[in-house]
This record gives sequence, C-alpha cells and structure tokens, in this order.
Amino acid sequence: MGVKPKLGCRRVVVRVTLDVAVRREFDYLVPLELESSVHEGTRVKVPFGPREVMGVVTAVLDESPHGNLREIIKTVGGQALVTPPILRLVRWIADYYCCAPEIAMKAVLPDAVRKEEEGWRERLFVRALPQHGELPKLTKRQEDLWTIVEEWRELPMQELVRLAGTTSVTIRKLEDKGLVSIGPQITERDPYAKEHILPTQPLDLNGEQVTALKAIVESIDRLSKREDALAKPEGDNVFLLHGVTGSGKTEVYLQAIAHALGHGKGAIVLVPEISLTPQTVERFKARFSQGHQQTLVAVLHSHLSAGERHDEWHKIRQGRARIVIGARSAVFAPVEPLGLVIVDEEHEHSYKQEEAPRYNARDLAVVRGKQEGAAVVLGSATPCMESYHNVQRKKYGLLSLTERVDNIQMPLVRVIDMRSAARSEKGINIFSPQLREAILQRLEKNEQVMLFLNRRGWSSSLQCPECGFVAECPNCSVSLTYHRAAQQLMCHICGHVESAPKKCPEAGCGHAAIRFAGLGTEKVEAALEKGFPSARVKRMDSDTLKRKEDYRRILGDFRTGKIDILVGTQMIAKGLHFPNVTLVGIIHADLSLHIPDFRAGERTFQLLTQVAGRAGRGDVEGEVYVQSFTPFHPAIQYARRHDYAGFFEQEIEFRRELRYPPISRVALLTLRGRSEDRVKFFADHLRKEMDELAKELGGTVVAGPAPAPLLRVESLYRYQVMIRTGNMAALSRRLSAGTKALKTPDDIRLVIDIDPMTVS
Ligand code: ADP
Ligand code: ZN
Repeated sequence: MGVKPKLGCRRVVVRVTLDVAVRREFDYLVPLELESSVHEGTRVKVPFGPREVMGVVTAVLDESPHGNLREIIKTVGGQALVTPPILRLVRWIADYYCCAPEIAMKAVLPDAVRKEEEGWRERLFVRALPQHGELPKLTKRQEDLWTIVEEWRELPMQELVRLAGTTSVTIRKLEDKGLVSIGPQITERDPYAKEHILPTQPLDLNGEQVTALKAIVESIDRLSKREDALAKPEGDNVFLLHGVTGSGKTEVYLQAIAHALGHGKGAIVLVPEISLTPQTVERFKARFSQGHQQTLVAVLHSHLSAGERHDEWHKIRQGRARIVIGARSAVFAPVEPLGLVIVDEEHEHSYKQEEAPRYNARDLAVVRGKQEGAAVVLGSATPCMESYHNVQRKKYGLLSLTERVDNIQMPLVRVIDMRSAARSEKGINIFSPQLREAILQRLEKNEQVMLFLNRRGWSSSLQCPECGFVAECPNCSVSLTYHRAAQQLMCHICGHVESAPKKCPEAGCGHAAIRFAGLGTEKVEAALEKGFPSARVKRMDSDTLKRKEDYRRILGDFRTGKIDILVGTQMIAKGLHFPNVTLVGIIHADLSLHIPDFRAGERTFQLLTQVAGRAGRGDVEGEVYVQSFTPFHPAIQYARRHDYAGFFEQEIEFRRELRYPPISRVALLTLRGRSEDRVKFFADHLRKEMDELAKELGGTVVAGPAPAPLLRVESLYRYQVMIRTGNMAALSRRLSAGTKALKTPDDIRLVIDIDPMTVS
C-alpha cells in the first residue's frame, strides 16, 4: 500500500484463497522483493481489513479487474506448499461438492503444516571436537563423560545425559574445556522410530495374483509413456480388485508399488483409519524402508502428534518419501509424480468426510488418477454398489482373487431364526441354545470366540411398563441408551447424559419397575460373565477405549490368548487377523437392516461378510452363527453363502426401480433450524427452486421436503430435499449458483451433501 507501480513497470498480481470464510478469493500485489518467491500454491500472509490472515496463492496474474490492491506481507515456507496438481484438485472439489474455495483448500493441508509456528524440531546435539596433544585436566566424572562422547562422536544431549547418568551442567563443563561443541540440529520425529522392522522380499504370486499385477503394471507403463496424461484411452485407469480377506491383495499392492517406484513414480495407499494399525504400516516399511531408504514410506493419520504430521508431510513434499500410507486425508499427499493410488477396503464409509468439504476420498483417488495419469486400484472383499456397477458398465476393470492364499475354506455360516428361539423359550435370550453350545465347545478346546453387536451400552431404551413412558433425549429424536457401569442414560447422537431414574419419572405414574428394553454390548458382556463364569471376557467399544493405547492393548491381549471371548461393536469387525478365533457370533444381525436408509441392505451384507471373515483364519476351520429375526432377508442369505455377485444382482434391481445410486447420483439438501415451522416453510420454498432447476437440467428428480429420519438432532429440526440425477457435474454447478442466489435466513442453515453416504 502506498507503493505506486512505476510507470511502464507491470506489478505482479496474485489471487489468494484466504483461510477465513468469505466464500471468494481476493487479489493482492506482490512486493518486488517477493516476486521470485511467490508461485501458485505458495502460502502467504496478507492484510485483510484490519487483520492479517494466511492464505494460498491460487493464480499468478498480470493484472486484476479490481482496483486499490493491497500488498502481500510475506511468504511462508521455502517451497510452494500446495502443488499444481493439488490446486487443480481443490478447484474440482469446490465445483463438484458445491463448497467455498477456502473450505476445499482447508482439506488439503494438515493443520500442522498450515500453522505457521509448527516447525522442525530442533534438538541440542553434543559433538566431540578433534583433540591434538594432551587432554586438559578432567575430573573423574568428566573423564567418564568424555569416553562416551568420544565413542559416539555425536549424540543428542538428552541421550548423553541418560547414558552417562549426568546433568547438562557437567556436559557444559566439557564444552568450556574445548572438548565438545553443543549446538542445535534438526531432527525428524519418526513415529515408528522405536519399531524394529525386518526387511521382506516379494513373494512368488499365485496365478490370480499374477494376472491382477500384470494388468496394473501394464496400466502404469501405458500411463507413464503418455505425454499428455489427460488424454487417457477408455477403460485405462481404474481397477476394482475384488478379493476376499486373505486372498493376497496386499501382496499385489506391494509389488505394484515396487513397479511404480522403478519408473520413478510414487504411490498413495489409503486405508480406513481403523485398519491403519502398526502391523499394516510395518508391512509396507518392511518391503521398502531399508538402509538409506529409511524415509521412503511416510504415514499420515490422526494418531500422530502435530509435530510428527508436520515432519511426515514435508518428507513427502520434499520427495524423500515416495510411498504414503494414510487414512482419508492422505489422498491429498503431494506425491509427485504420482504413479499409483490404492484404496483398500474401498467400500468403507469412513472415506467420506462428514463435514465440509464433504468429499469421498475413494472418489477423489479416481479423480486424481485421471488428472495426474496414475493407475488407481480399489480393493475390497465387498465392493460398494457404485464400484461394481462401474465394472459392469466397463468403466473399471475387474481383477478377482477368488481364493485365499492359504487355501483355507471360507467359514461355515449358520443363520439362527430367533423368532422360533423366542417362541420356544419365555422371553428373548441373548444367546440361542445353538450359539451357547458352540461357545462352550470352543472354550473347552481352548479356542477363541468373538461376539459382535452393533450397539454399545446396556440397553437401547428405558421404558415404563405401566404408563409406556420412554426416556428420550431432550435435544434429539431418539431414545436414551442406558449405560450400567456409569449408571447413566446417554444420547448416542449428541452425547447428552443424565442419571438413570429409579422409578418412572412421568408425573402421576412413579411406577417402580421401569424396564430396560433392547440390548447393548455392556449387557452381552454381563451375560457372558454370568453364563460362562470360567471364561475371560473383554468388551471393546468406544466406552471401554478411553486412551489411545487401549485399542492396541486389548487386541494384544486377545492375540496372546489372555482373553477367551472378545465382545464388541463394529470396531472388532474390520481387517483383524487372529488365527485362534474359530467361532464368531453375531448377536443381532437385523440391527443395521432397520436403519432408514436405502443402503441398509448393502451395509448389512458388508458387515456380516466382514465379521464372518474373522473366523477360522488359522489351522482350524471356523464357524459363524448369525442370530436374526428376519433370517430370510437377502442381505443375510447372500452373506451366508458368501455370494457377492448374487447380492449385487438383486440389490441393483431395487436401486433401479427407485432410481437410487448407483443408477443415479444423489444430492441431499438438509435445512436445519430451531423452529420446525420456519425450517419447513423454507424447505417448501427450496423445493420449488429445485423443481425449476430440475426442469432446466432434465433427467433429474426432486423429492421432499420430508422430515429427516432423525428429525431433531442437537436441538435442531431437520428437513431434507433429495435430488437424484444422471449428471451430477451439471447439477453441482447449478446448485452452487442457485443456492448462492437463494438467501437463506440467518436462523436456518442449508447443508449440501453430494453423494451422501447416509441419508438419515
Ligand atoms: P489380503 O490383503 O487380501 O487380506 P494379504 O496380502 O494380506 O491378503 O495375504 C494374506 C497372507 O498371505 C499374508 O500373510 C501374505 O503374506 C500371504 N501371501 C500373500 N500372497 C502370497 C503368496 N503368493 N504366496 C505366499 N503367501 C502369500
Ligand atoms: Zn441427543
């Protein structure tokens, strides 16, 4: 400011996405001395009103349509933090997911990297200085200390203090005598520094693995030969690797990555957060991170400290790490050039971010692959309907691994009709006689059992048998779950807790025998302790996992046989491998079927298949008991027969009839507010606007407004308008423009979710 451009000398102008929510970008002048350090993707500090804010340069321009531009204050970091391919992805996200540029930008840099202050860690190092001639006179302690330093030549101050059992004051004395120098040195925080990892060699692949690898490798080769990655031939790009757990998918990934590396290209491996265990990371490190290639594999996930995240991310940005393993947000890792993206367990809902930007990392992996000329492999034992549909439409290539590497048979699955179990005995028991007997037999043989129930707590509701009162959340339209250990009623939506009443609180009732209806993991645990008193039982759900080590510790105890029966929620369903588990019981398979969502059947099928896959991973054949009140539901029957294709065929018919995804795509518009009348009124208005839009667009169906299946959440009423379309890109564009023009009143919030994973 105040700096007038010299006549005849054009000033560089940059367009900046600010970190603040303003829904648009701003132009700034670049001071002459900063011209050489400002590029697309550079992080900058700029004046904004009376404040100074951070932002990212998204374009370097010759001129701006705006007058009176202010100057950027400074640049942050040596390198542009956001690379051109990631900038391109940010634009795609803002367009497709209908969000503001700063929202899309926020997703691509970890907080630890965005924050200016988080830098490299500097540690003090002690170095031995070369000595000529006589040593100065030393005390006994100083002499001992010097012996250690001489041997190590250089080591961290802290380490030396520990080794020598001394203090930093003594070490400073050596510095005074000219024996050592002490100074800061940058060290990398390596989250896996303490693990000792043995290197592994590629395995000889079986026939199906060879076929799969060959297809992926050829695709990588074709793409790397192509000058213009965008001009990709049809069908090249994306593979669906459909293989049961234990069929050797990971080995195929490892060898495909090795091939990409051989061509000078990097790879990203996305894994659901919950499967991102040390064992998973170790398999990749063991293959690639050896000797001078220590830094080749970087890990990004939420359990890292801010400092570790910072260091891992910069290792990738600097090109020292070429392979990235991480959860959802690792899809933004600045790997360059990118040769391969793998999305393991691609059907997992956790790939969808449930806050803005509401992106799906699996879909972004496919977009990145297309934009950057990388091969994409989506792997799963139970692919989502969308991906398998794309195989049928020839958009993705299908690679199948039909058998387990170890030739172990898939476990025998028995479905138990709980209606007859309930009829023959009084009341409903938690365990059917068949399951009870099976547990006893396995315990006798010293084998392990896993029991699965997708609901935590003691009971799902508290009811008065006299007046019918049900304890409900004051903020949400759900009943409260009773947690016995904590003696509390809890809302699983908003977290509201209240103490459990001893008698019915309804005015004029006060009946003493209030009942706990329904079932949670806490009650299953208690029933096990009572029914199998000699068994060691452990429960694993978000109530028992208080600290971040708990998960590892419980699984460790289970692995080493300190636990006989592990009972838990979906947390225990995923990707875990315990050779001694021979029996898996699913207590109530119908729970996920009754969710008011068109994906309820698909989710149940996936869940049952995943849980069943936990049984019989070792030498003894496994068996699975599925207790159900709707035993003939297709999701349950196809899961029993391990028949994915059969399930897909009947499910796609249902989707086709109702034009649900993958036949169409969905945009879900949810309005929230404190006044139900106002929300409903505005929702009607929104519907009219959307009808207009659908008319222009064609091939688009608008439904609603309807109260959301969960009408009230955290004191806010929710109404939904659902749009189904064959052309989401076009709809997104119109929606962005249309909803900007649509003035939402202050007391109502509009949330646009493109390709929602849940509609409740
Ligand atoms: P998935 O990822 O499909 O669950 P993995 O790749 O983890 O399967 O393979 C399961 C087990 O089989 C692993 O212990 C792996 O080392 C082993 N394995 C995979 N491929 C082979 C092979 N071709 N020969 C021998 N063992 C293999
Ligand atoms: Zn609530």
